[in-house]
Amino acid sequence: MNVFNDLVGQEHITEILKSAIAASRTGVESQDMTHAWLFTGPPGSGRSSAAVAFARALICPNQGYGACNECQSAATGGHPDVEVIRTEGLSIKVEEIRELLTRVAWAPSMGGWRVVVMEDADRLTESAANALLKAIEEPGTRTVWLLCAPTLHDVLPTIRSRCRHLQLRSPSIEAVTQVLIKRDNISPTMADFAARVSQGHIGRAKYLATNEKVRSNRKVIMQLPLQLRSLAEAFQAAQSLVDIATEEASASSGIRDEKEIEKLQEAYGKGATGRGMATGAAKAVKELEKEQKSRATRMVRDSIDGALLDLATFYRDVMMAQAGVTESMINSDIRSEIESYATSFPAHTAVQKMSAILEARNHLAMNAAPLVTCEALMCELARR
Ligand SMILES: [Zn+2]
Repeated sequence: MNVFNDLVGQEHITEILKSAIAASRTGVESQDMTHAWLFTGPPGSGRSSAAVAFARALICPNQGYGACNECQSAATGGHPDVEVIRTEGLSIKVEEIRELLTRVAWAPSMGGWRVVVMEDADRLTESAANALLKAIEEPGTRTVWLLCAPTLHDVLPTIRSRCRHLQLRSPSIEAVTQVLIKRDNISPTMADFAARVSQGHIGRAKYLATNEKVRSNRKVIMQLPLQLRSLAEAFQAAQSLVDIATEEASASSGIRDEKEIEKLQEAYGKGATGRGMATGAAKAVKELEKEQKSRATRMVRDSIDGALLDLATFYRDVMMAQAGVTESMINSDIRSEIESYATSFPAHTAVQKMSAILEARNHLAMNAAPLVTCEALMCELARR
């Protein structure tokens, strides 16, 4: 048993992490063990899983055995020396970093190291990044920083130059299929389908394999290209796509939002009559609602982005069908539709459609309005 066993297709970095763990036993920094790391890799490759596994092994008395109290509690967020920063909002602000730095200023409670995993270091605002930089630069610190980001370019050069960089790979479809079968008890047929259409994104594959509503939504999305026969239909398709994405996002955030507000009101003493208390609570609720709104916006965008990635695989498969290479088709569940579509489609057009989708994703990433972006895309996809 070992905390690194859960990492899928990342053998090239687990070796590095294991030597770092061995070197970390001395309690001082060395060539193998440094106090700032940057994990990058495509979405779903498991950047934060890798960072959390490393954090667990660092505080474990048995080098990351996986079953002792220390590494168990670190995995569930109950270890005092391991903190995982997950960001729901669009950015990590300087106030949050300052607060974090005060929290981690103390020596580790168990001796050894204190570890901070930051899942979305790409969302640090510039001032937040500069505040963090000061902490990372501090010599002789007992705090280990494990930052995660999609690519090196998503992190300020000043920060990345001080971190040891580890690049994760997208795991193979076969590796993801095996994880779903063995770890999550998913049937081989479903595991293969989910791994294939999620293209190595483990989280998405599991979500799809275990959620029927998500699968039926995906089916609707994959039918959209077949329905683009007029501009009217293009606008309709854009609306459906945004509706589905919004519905999916709110399904997963609605309950959480309510619970958070309830908890906050409880903390302030619901129904308290003291004037200061009432205004304090109202202000805090307002603040929380603002945060929830920014999280909801992000979730809808992420959801649309996922749908666009799915659509791109449709056109990719059309090209495959035109080239006569059907065994590596991603969307084998709609093979016959794709094959007949491919016969009516000029060969070079699928490439144009794929780049239009990529362009729409870029616009979304730069905060363009979702519906308008999707409308422009669908009109482009409908064009013959
Ligand atoms: Zn352990």
